[in-house]
Amino acid sequence: PEQRAQADQEDRTPKQLPKGVVLGPDGKPCRSCTSVSSWFAMAKQGTTNPSKVATTTPPAQATASLDMPADCPPDVEQLGRSAWTLLHTMAASYPEKPSSEQQKETTTFMQLFGKMYPCWVCADDFRAWMKDGNEPRVSSREDFGQWMCEAHNAVNVKLGKKSFDCKKWEERWRTGWKD
Ligand code: FAD
Repeated sequence: PEQRAQADQEDRTPKQLPKGVVLGPDGKPCRSCTSVSSWFAMAKQGTTNPSKVATTTPPAQATASLDMPADCPPDVEQLGRSAWTLLHTMAASYPEKPSSEQQKETTTFMQLFGKMYPCWVCADDFRAWMKDGNEPRVSSREDFGQWMCEAHNAVNVKLGKKSFDCKKWEERWRTGWKD
């Protein structure tokens, strides 16, 4: 009976989540908020009833060594790379002289993007950044491209990554690198 009591206790004691695992609003681990390395660590550990959330992202090389099949749901990094590709490419194809209608629609798009981005912690921070004196600048392609670059750099800084030189946003996303 003593052994059973101990096993019972272990069953009920919630395990701690591995670093980087973020819960969704439903209290379950949020795949699009969590890196694949943390997700795999959680699966290995068999954590199903977490008591604690750690939000530190593990080092990039931890994920680089993991082979996730291409047809799996995206983790926070894959989703992020795809989202930035879309956003910077939208800026690259934005008109040099947008109409007032295009400017209005673009601002609305960015505000909705900030609400609907599937990684909710990322979305919350992005909306807070926009609210904090960084409303979308949409008066021209150059303006929008620069603003997008600054938005991306704010996330880079938050994640401890190097900032990108915003003078080069157009080479990276529109014209290709100068030789
Ligand atoms: P990415 O940062 O995805 O960049 C892709 C490519 O863009 C780079 O290789 C580089 O060539 C280019 N690039 C880099 N910086 C810039 C720039 N400033 N301007 C133009 N081009 C640039 N992840 C989290 O873990 N936590 C978060 O809170 C979080 N918030 C996010 C918020 C938003 C709105 C988005 C879209 C993504 C967020 N992400 C977040 C994902 C994160 O930004 C990265 O996409 C992810 O970590 C993968 O990073 P990466 O190093 O592969 O390159």
